[in-house]
Amino acid sequence: MDSRRRSTSKATTASPPHMKMKMGVGLHEHHNDKELKASDALPLPLYLTNAVFFTLFFSVVYFLLTRWREKIRNSTPLHVLNLSEIVAIFAFVASFIYLLGFFGIDFVQSIFRPSVDLWPNEDEIDDAQNADEIILKEDTRKVPCGAGLDCSPPQIVNKEIVSPPSLVPTVLSEEDEEIIKSVLKGSTPSYTLESKLGDCKRAAAIRREALQRLTGKSLTGLPLEGFDYESVLGQCCEMPVGYVQIPVGIAGPLLLDGIEYSVPMATTEGCLVASTNRGCKAIHLSGGAASVLLKDGMTRAPVVRFASAQRAAHLKFFLENPNNFENLSMIFNKSSRFARLQNIKCTIAGKNLYMRFTCSTGDAMGMNMISKGVQNVLDYLQNDFSDMDVIGISGNFCSDKKAAAVNWIEGRGKSVVCECVIKGEVVKKVLKTNVAALVELNMLKNLTGSAMAGALGGFNAHASNIVAAVYIATGQDPAQTVESSHCITMMEAVNDGQDLHVSVTMPSIEVGTVGGGTQLASQSACLNLLGVKGANRESAGSNARLLATIVAGSVLAGELSLMSAQAAGQLVSSHMKYNRSSKDVSKVSS
Ligand code: ADP
Repeated sequence: MDSRRRSTSKATTASPPHMKMKMGVGLHEHHNDKELKASDALPLPLYLTNAVFFTLFFSVVYFLLTRWREKIRNSTPLHVLNLSEIVAIFAFVASFIYLLGFFGIDFVQSIFRPSVDLWPNEDEIDDAQNADEIILKEDTRKVPCGAGLDCSPPQIVNKEIVSPPSLVPTVLSEEDEEIIKSVLKGSTPSYTLESKLGDCKRAAAIRREALQRLTGKSLTGLPLEGFDYESVLGQCCEMPVGYVQIPVGIAGPLLLDGIEYSVPMATTEGCLVASTNRGCKAIHLSGGAASVLLKDGMTRAPVVRFASAQRAAHLKFFLENPNNFENLSMIFNKSSRFARLQNIKCTIAGKNLYMRFTCSTGDAMGMNMISKGVQNVLDYLQNDFSDMDVIGISGNFCSDKKAAAVNWIEGRGKSVVCECVIKGEVVKKVLKTNVAALVELNMLKNLTGSAMAGALGGFNAHASNIVAAVYIATGQDPAQTVESSHCITMMEAVNDGQDLHVSVTMPSIEVGTVGGGTQLASQSACLNLLGVKGANRESAGSNARLLATIVAGSVLAGELSLMSAQAAGQLVSSHMKYNRSSKDVSKVSS
């Protein structure tokens, strides 16, 4: 339960901006307690030294101006100086040099440097006559080529491409240099580096350096340090050269089925977390949302071909005959202790047969597991149907990572419905709109508008926004957001039109809490926050099922908030306000 509580602790160790400026973070520098700083050489702590020089500077300026005024009044020549004035001038020069050195040129530049908007804004892009003009504008952006960002291009020395000195990772030894050259020559394939070196981090560093030299493009900004490359070897990513950073925001608490969840969302879309947070608040103030898991079954549909449609139909009847199910499921279930065959539904296209296997997969999303089970059955069928030609283990009738009616109607992964009654007062105060406006907008936009567009599973405002952000944060397969975002959002006035009944029905939420990207450190921390990390020991599959309901609950919150913003005509203004600036977006939820 701890992991589901809201965290109230705040970081208190951030350095003040001027300290960061003085320390200057280099490309391969790592700050730790033992690192020496220039200020360590000072006899006093830095803040005391600063105070002394500030005081000195302003005191001598005051003293000299007073003396100057007296001399003008007494008609004394200005160049005639006594000892105290000479000392004061020395002190002025010394303190001025200190202060100039302290704030430095970075400080002066930072006043004139734009802080966030490094790219041309949309209006500029709209105004641009053609793509060249846009590229020109992008090229002239003021990227700060400061301490941590070396933008200088690789150079050619002795007919060899070499990176600027600051790009060469410190880990590279002479031996590494030889390996880089051999990768560049093609004598060492880049993909063999991990197995040859037995050190994934070093392999990534070498591959990265070779890539920079080969392409003549800098990878500065794509971090190499701070990632466990062993953890992705053989299951998450081949030939790594770094990792992309995506901020994780927290929406919540989401009150769902009586429990509060802090929902991690990895996104770079401004407003999204703030908006979902506002939806969570509306749900919470209305007593919480309730969810029901309707179905739980992953699917895989191989395609096989026969010499005739008749033979294909024979196999269809065989597979769908209830008398054969026990035997088939026994063969299928051998693939894993978690895979349990539920049914096989077939469809025919001429001589080709598509058999859609559905099975439960415990806490795994289940694609690997089900593929193994399907392979077992295909091998078995080959005995009685030796004329069966297996064309592919996946014949797209599954249907994985594609919008397809079969998922929308039959479901894939977890099918969930989630609902809440939002009190009229909450609609007014938190969502800043009214029940009638929301119901009307939902009917005309999510239902009629989507019907006119010929939508497939897209009867919602922005389910995919929330699904994608939660999926990335929790290590799900982001490509499965396609069908996982299928959702119909319904809104209805209830209690004599006073309150709003809102629901989301999502037939294909494909999630897991074991396997794939879920075991990586950051992703598993996010799963831990939700209390669904790893396999559920008491009841296999309940962590994944709970995660699916949290996804649906978060979508409910996102739908409520965005629909309300549109009903109240706030969408454009809030995006202009929060998508383009670094202001405190949390205010959106209040
Ligand atoms: P997927 O099938 O989603 O691609 P993987 O096959 O990579 O996932 O991961 C599932 C693995 O985790 C299997 O080897 C399975 O035996 C193991 N496992 C351990 N505990 C569980 C559990 N509770 N539910 C599902 N799989 C589990």
